[in-house]
Amino acid sequence: MSSTESPASAAAPSATYNGACHCNKIKYTVTQSPPLTDPTAEVIDCNCSICSRNGYLFIYVPDKDVTFEKGTLDDLRKYTFAPRHKIAHYFCPTCGTSCFSKSTDPEYYPDYLAVNVRAFEELDLKALKLKQVDGKNYNG
Ligand SMILES: [Zn+2]
Repeated sequence: MSSTESPASAAAPSATYNGACHCNKIKYTVTQSPPLTDPTAEVIDCNCSICSRNGYLFIYVPDKDVTFEKGTLDDLRKYTFAPRHKIAHYFCPTCGTSCFSKSTDPEYYPDYLAVNVRAFEELDLKALKLKQVDGKNYNG
């Protein structure tokens, strides 16, 4: 993890994380304030059918806080599923790493990405405060 103070908000500590799929086809940075290891930060651990299979531990990040250093979302394969096809799940076509998901509905969080923090380098997953979400029983 590389930690950088943002000059625009010196009072609010932030951290910039380097993420990549396993084969490094895509690389990106994600800036978070507070840092993910801050006691007030929460990372979502959801039990729905797709999160449990992909092992997602995710955070919601405004699109503008994700910077692609190599490749873009368009270099990933997109998976949606019935009945709603409301969320697109993006994974690397080469190595299969599930990096992001994003709403396909322009009315539903159009400017956010759900980012899988497991693809961050040098993030101590055991230091995270996980928020258990019961997506399995959510029918929204
Ligand atoms: Zn890859």
